[in-house]
Amino acid sequence: MDFVFKALGVLRERPLCDRCLGRFFARLGYGWSNLDRGSAIKRVIVMYYHWRVKSGDRGALEEFLSVAPNIGVEASGLYRLLTGGDLGARPCSICGGVLESFLDKVAGDVAGLLRVYGVRRFIIGVKPSGDILGVEEEIASKHSLDGWESIKNEIKREVGKRVESLGFTADFTSPEAMVIIGFPGGGLEIIVNSLILAGRYWKRGRLVSQAYWPSFEGAKYYSIEEALTPLLRIAEGESIVFHAAGREDVDARMLGTGRPVLVEVKAPRVRELEFSEVERAVQEASKGLVAFKFEGYANRSMVKVYKEEATVKSKVYKALIAVRGGIEEGELARLEEALRGAAITQRTPLRILRRKKDITRAKKVYEVKCRILGGPLIECLIKASGGLYVKELISGDNGRTRPSFTEILGREASCLELDVLLVTPIS
Ligand SMILES: [Zn+2]
Repeated sequence: MDFVFKALGVLRERPLCDRCLGRFFARLGYGWSNLDRGSAIKRVIVMYYHWRVKSGDRGALEEFLSVAPNIGVEASGLYRLLTGGDLGARPCSICGGVLESFLDKVAGDVAGLLRVYGVRRFIIGVKPSGDILGVEEEIASKHSLDGWESIKNEIKREVGKRVESLGFTADFTSPEAMVIIGFPGGGLEIIVNSLILAGRYWKRGRLVSQAYWPSFEGAKYYSIEEALTPLLRIAEGESIVFHAAGREDVDARMLGTGRPVLVEVKAPRVRELEFSEVERAVQEASKGLVAFKFEGYANRSMVKVYKEEATVKSKVYKALIAVRGGIEEGELARLEEALRGAAITQRTPLRILRRKKDITRAKKVYEVKCRILGGPLIECLIKASGGLYVKELISGDNGRTRPSFTEILGREASCLELDVLLVTPIS
């Protein structure tokens, strides 16, 4: 029964409520709360003194009377029996005697806060004030107690259980929000995780940028990000972050299958969205320039996958091309043949050299299909690996992309319009 005497040693020094005493013996017994443990130990201690008093142990009464105020309610019956008076119990020296009522009250507050943010899956964090944790450490080390639990842990678990009983789910792997509880003050702080929507977008007009493009006169182009403003309003979020699998140039449209994208809404208050409502609102706000199709919700871990350009296996483009001096059918066949399965060596294009490092990339063209439109104009479908700069594949970029339309034809070719028709992500 060593552990009972250790508990008695602690109680001789300071008052502890049932829960705060029980926490020091949290690994003993199974399926009990620390409240049960603390109360059980105290009852055994009271019985131990009663037994000694009955056996005629003269010192026992005096010892009992001095420790009883630190034990509290469990000692009050015997105290009255032995003295005829009421026990003046002292408040717990760790929690001030408020822990029990705190747990019940704060659980209701947490649930209310979760409701405001439309959160169902939560985790709890705890910030004890002052030196509560230090006091616990000191008691444990002075009395050589191991297997104890900190008040922080207990509040987390107990509040978590109570909040779950109010219809929420504790989720340690992918919570929608974390609520941090101040003890004993009861102040709450909530960290709401982003809502991440997976879908695709289409850009039906030119001169639309993917992200907001600042200039001194405001946004330089209308952007896909701006088209998503209705989503921000509907989800009642703070901001939107856009994670697309690659991007097309400002002057290129995104047609065909659309481009896979993750849209992150930060700190939303609404987490269950009617996708069709959002899609309709985006369509209206952008006057049909931008369209979205949302397919579901995604995890944070998927964001990284979308950000890497290499996640795009291949793309199909449609290009309107001008060839100096026009072009004949025979040359077109030669061009298609030369580019079928061609390995392309591409240095960073001159037009973006200011923003990106000058490196050489090895890319691939799978297939090219062209038709003559008349005059110098041809229209080509180009299937190529992700990350290939198509405008430079056509122009040659002063020899920085090889081979190129210009090089194969022996005449200057340039891209007038570019559309992306198909983006195939690596799955
Ligand atoms: Zn306490």
